[in-house]
Amino acid sequence: MSHHKKCVVIKIGSHHTIAGFNNTELPQCILPSSYLKKGSDEYIFGTISMLEEAMAKNEGETNESLEVFTTVDENGIPYNWTVIEQQLKYIYKTQLKCEPQDLPLVITVPHLKSELANKVLERYFNIAFTKLNVPVLQIIIEPLAIALAMGKTSALVIDLGSSGCNITPIVEGTVVKTSVMRSRFAGDFLDYQVTQKVENIVKNNKKKNNSEEIDIDGDINISNEDNILSDNKDSVDVWLQANTWIQDFKINMLQVSDKELPELERFYKEQAEMQIRQQEQLQQYSTNNVNAKLDEAAIASIQNNNPLSQKKNFLYKLANQTISLESRQCYELAESLFNPSMISEKYTKEDGLGEIIGKSIKKAGASVSSVGTNTIGALGASMTIQPMNTQSKNNYLGDNNGNNNSNATGINSLSTTATTPEYIYSMLLTNIIVTGATSLINGMEQRIIKELSIRFPQYKITTFANQVTMDRKIQGWTSSVSMSNLPSWELAKWYTKSDYEKELNSETVNEK
Ligand code: ATP
Repeated sequence: MSHHKKCVVIKIGSHHTIAGFNNTELPQCILPSSYLKKGSDEYIFGTISMLEEAMAKNEGETNESLEVFTTVDENGIPYNWTVIEQQLKYIYKTQLKCEPQDLPLVITVPHLKSELANKVLERYFNIAFTKLNVPVLQIIIEPLAIALAMGKTSALVIDLGSSGCNITPIVEGTVVKTSVMRSRFAGDFLDYQVTQKVENIVKNNKKKNNSEEIDIDGDINISNEDNILSDNKDSVDVWLQANTWIQDFKINMLQVSDKELPELERFYKEQAEMQIRQQEQLQQYSTNNVNAKLDEAAIASIQNNNPLSQKKNFLYKLANQTISLESRQCYELAESLFNPSMISEKYTKEDGLGEIIGKSIKKAGASVSSVGTNTIGALGASMTIQPMNTQSKNNYLGDNNGNNNSNATGINSLSTTATTPEYIYSMLLTNIIVTGATSLINGMEQRIIKELSIRFPQYKITTFANQVTMDRKIQGWTSSVSMSNLPSWELAKWYTKSDYEKELNSETVNEK
């Protein structure tokens, strides 16, 4: 297969689907992965069309039923295959403006557990070869592509997305399967927290101002605000809010503290006390009175200077109100990713991001050293996922019981290295890649470093995060583009329709 061939690259995430060509730096389109179903059989894809329909519905301009559905479940696994097929056809027709059969296709998928991976991959192969008729297909594991595109064969990829945060350790070009971990507390969870917080504030303001307007006849006027705050929002309202004001709120208001929030409170309290003592000493010195104390107003003014009490304002256009939050409240919202137990007793601190990143590294150390030094698959074998049961085993360290992969190119095997857990810890901790749009929250990278330095105090920690907002949002896609532009495709495997049919036939024979 010619390696200079132009191809289509599509990344399907739980929030966004990104599609474009491998000869351009930016994708052709970034669309919601969810879709609107209008009436009984009309599907609406694409941000603008979806927004227009959703707004028309809210303004009462349409009587037809409208609902938002997802194509990817809360674990980041695609499940709505009929619609995924339609969505891909829509992308080819309206966005890429080319025929699927004209260009090879690269699909980027998150790392999946092996029992699911085969089912999901078979579906993709089926859609690509039997519904779209693409000539050749390659499926790339997203975290692997991200690490390799950054020139790293070993890395810990921390992808903070919408449905979850995925932690993927990669050692010498291979995903350490048993150590991949996922937290369900990510962008969607924050959306819910933000909505609750803002709506509570609006409700309280409303109560305070007694703003239910009673007209001359004594009727209560139901304002737009009441609709917004109603507890029975439908899927269209939830989607619309998540893609409009909640996005703005997250970008402008949310922040992550570099240490746990109670620790930060203590820190600023101690700072204030120290400042009070210093001022008193100054006063004592200048008045020659050893008992001189600051007056209450001066003490209050120092205490009010606490950075956590600084106000941040957000214009909540839906209710025509400016919402004021203290900095500590903004920290609290994002802190729930690291300590979900502060939201509800049914969650534990062990579900938090810091804990699962730490666990993932420790598990990687344990599994790599226990599996042995000759079991790490070579880079080439792990670049792509292979569709069939027997082959896909070798893509991941955890399943590879010492068998060499038949597709291995023999690059970068760890066989000559003494593999101890400490060696793996150090290799992963110096190559932490932070990606996914939720990682754009202010202070996220610093906090991850802090969480890791507590758990691995004796190790050097180095993180890599793309500093350009758009680049970080589309990193999964651009990394796949880089992979598809490698001078030699020997590193990965392309599948043709005949490969697929051969595999299907051999499976049928085996079953018989
Ligand atoms: P997943 O990784 O779960 O499959 P995805 O790759 O489609 O999802 P991303 O685009 O990485 O998801 O992340 C989307 C989430 O990031 C959404 O919840 C969105 O609200 C949030 N988000 C987008 N921009 C920002 C930002 N600047 N600050 C904070 N959060 C943001």
